[in-house]
Amino acid sequence: METDQLIIPKATAKRLPLYYRFIQNLYQSGKQRVSSAELSEAVKVDSATIRRDFSYFGALGKKGYGYNVQYLLSFFRKILNQDEITKVALIGVGNLGTALLKYNFTKNNNTKIVCAFDANQEKVDQKFGDITVYPMDSLEQILSTEEIQVVILTVPAPVAQLVTDRLAKTGIKGILNFTPARLTVPSNIRVHHIDLAVELQSFVYLIKHYSNEEVVV
Ligand code: ATP
Repeated sequence: METDQLIIPKATAKRLPLYYRFIQNLYQSGKQRVSSAELSEAVKVDSATIRRDFSYFGALGKKGYGYNVQYLLSFFRKILNQDEITKVALIGVGNLGTALLKYNFTKNNNTKIVCAFDANQEKVDQKFGDITVYPMDSLEQILSTEEIQVVILTVPAPVAQLVTDRLAKTGIKGILNFTPARLTVPSNIRVHHIDLAVELQSFVYLIKHYSNEEVVV
């Protein structure tokens, strides 16, 4: 099946890395086939949703047999572009930025932070493994020569839009915004907003006000 042109629902697309990670684990443990019920139990997604998600990709499994693990693995590798590395840069090497640089998404072998930037001279030239912290005046040039596609933004909120305006003039495709600022970007750049403080606060609110049985979306 030609997977490049495939248009699938966003909710399905979001679950694909989850499936992929679990299928990788299965493969590594030597399992050869898996049922949608087993998948469902492991990834905590109901089996009807899994079957519907997989149905967008044609016949991945057989009735009564389940799914062939090796086939699923190679299929998801291809669809998630696991053989193609997406280069990521991080701007703002503060507490959160440092944590992300140290973490560096080693479980996802197709995304890698390759460079970092900071306005503070004392942070410039620091090294985190093979990642170097560069000064902000080399931002545009390094993003271009390194062919960076995604930027993780961990600068203070008041400067987030200023930095974004500079990024808007580069070739990057997406910003993972960890600042509380709401960013304005041109239509060729996608922004994904992750506010950990808000996530934690709403989680605590849900724990306090809703029982586990109530479905909250
Ligand atoms: P720290 O305690 O290390 O300063 P923090 O997360 O509390 O961490 P913030 O004030 O949130 O610090 O700043 C995050 C990082 O963003 C800092 O390393 C800071 O030097 C950097 N920074 C601030 N302004 C800019 C800017 N305009 N461009 C790039 N980086 C910036």
